[in-house]
Amino acid sequence: MYDIGIIGGGTAGMTAAIYGQRAGKRTVIIEGTNFGGQITSSTNVENYPGIASVSGSEFSMNLLDQAMKLGAETVVDQVSTVTKEEGMFVLETSEKAYPCRSVILATGVTHRHLGIEKEEKLVGAGVSYCATCDGAFFRDRDVAVIGGGNTALQDAEFLSNYCRKVYLVHRRDEFRGEKSLVKRLEEKENVEFVLSATVKDILGESMVEGLILHNKKTEEDFQIEVSGVFVAIGHIPQNDRFKELVELDEGGFIEAKEDCLTSCPGVFAAGDCRTKEVRQLTTAAADGAVAGLAACKYLAGE
Ligand SMILES: Cc1cc2nc3c(=O)[nH]c(=O)nc-3n(C[C@H](O)[C@H](O)[C@H](O)COP(=O)(O)OP(=O)(O)OC[C@H]3O[C@@H](n4cnc5c(N)ncnc54)[C@H](O)[C@@H]3O)c2cc1C
Repeated sequence: MYDIGIIGGGTAGMTAAIYGQRAGKRTVIIEGTNFGGQITSSTNVENYPGIASVSGSEFSMNLLDQAMKLGAETVVDQVSTVTKEEGMFVLETSEKAYPCRSVILATGVTHRHLGIEKEEKLVGAGVSYCATCDGAFFRDRDVAVIGGGNTALQDAEFLSNYCRKVYLVHRRDEFRGEKSLVKRLEEKENVEFVLSATVKDILGESMVEGLILHNKKTEEDFQIEVSGVFVAIGHIPQNDRFKELVELDEGGFIEAKEDCLTSCPGVFAAGDCRTKEVRQLTTAAADGAVAGLAACKYLAGE
């Protein structure tokens, strides 16, 4: 029987394990694919306080090493269900069942992709899913943001402070995001709206060099020259399988605030998987700490 069962071995999950172990709790982290989560696909992180520059994989391996040295147990397997039983939770994987006294859901998100063949190849070579993370690498360059919701609008505004030109490409002729944001962008000289347009292809072999866009009204293709493409067409949470256990919002994120408490006592949510404004390493680590300590408090009062 584990004191704390953590689902997801990203920054949030591994930080939670560090706090759990340091509080003397028996902790297991179950990770479905690779320890480190999303950040392992980033070549350079420059906004984690106290670390000027680090690759995503080195950052993750340090975190994993720290958690394991403190005694956290690790398993590579996908958790398919969590069931609540008398005084405990059972985390089921294809191989085994893990009985735990408390649970931390730290399942993160995946980013919705455009679905273009070149996209995967050029991630980190001009294709990005995070303007806050990668925007500074495109100082004085021309970039495109794809999307029409608040994230895309905010990304375009953020990038307009660094980049020479920002094309905001949206498949409809009106944005879904807040009108006030649209107005602010209209007033920016270096932002150009490209509406009713979809991305047909990405140009460049080893680095992004441009986009082929398709105008849905005229049915014509045209090109823009950019060195960065920021895809902001949505996050996909991985929480569907836990919807009987905890409440999710309409976007599929776990309903939990800064205290990381969910609708189910004994189950906590940390990191990108929960309802929140800012999805970053710092906020994932902060949630890991809060959820780890909240689980310890829950165990003390059981
Ligand atoms: C390309 C890229 C670059 C980025 N750059 C930066 C940056 O420079 N600075 C910054 O602050 N942020 C950056 N981010 C954002 C940052 O990576 C995330 O905010 C952070 O990783 C969130 O951590 P997390 O632990 O909540 O989730 P994740 O990192 O998504 O980890 C969740 C883990 O849970 C696992 N999982 C999910 N479901 C299950 C299941 N059922 N069973 C077992 N395991 C499961 C997943 O496999 C995954 O490993 C970047 C993101 C990307 C994609």
